[in-house]
Amino acid sequence: MKRRTLLSGLITLPLLPGMARFSLAESMEHETGMTVTPLDLPHSHWRDKVSAEAWNVLFEEATERAGSSPLDKVYEPGTYVCAACYLPLFRSEDKYDSGTGWPSFTQPIEGSMGTKQDFKLIWPRTEYHCARCGGHQGHVFNDGPPPTGQRWCNNGVALRFIPATDALPELRS
Ligand SMILES: [Zn+2]
Repeated sequence: MKRRTLLSGLITLPLLPGMARFSLAESMEHETGMTVTPLDLPHSHWRDKVSAEAWNVLFEEATERAGSSPLDKVYEPGTYVCAACYLPLFRSEDKYDSGTGWPSFTQPIEGSMGTKQDFKLIWPRTEYHCARCGGHQGHVFNDGPPPTGQRWCNNGVALRFIPATDALPELRS
């Protein structure tokens, strides 16, 4: 099928429960000044680059068990990058203890995330993913603290923490 035909077909499909609505990927300006261009790579590309647990979350949209990630209790200064492609996604300043057992943030780094609505629960919720590799990170809710009132509830296994004293890793693809 031609790509254009496929895309226009997706746009005109009615929204049904259980279906996800994808926003079409475009390049975004990342807060660091770089342009984030979505990688057009099959999910299998990342199989041998991340752990099996991380792969299931990132590319099968699995959810890690609450309280299982050591990153839930990390509050040192630093940057949280995508476990697959290393795009910087969150700053430690925006992390807080939500008490849910998942690393939680009030906001991501601007230009780092794409979102889509999903209907895996009865009510719609907003899924978000790395804007570069498309890896699923978590869901965003409107019950967070100031200043945004948002709770970006993230799977710790989908992140790597880079302490402020370390250099950020090169993006990988
Ligand atoms: Zn990524």
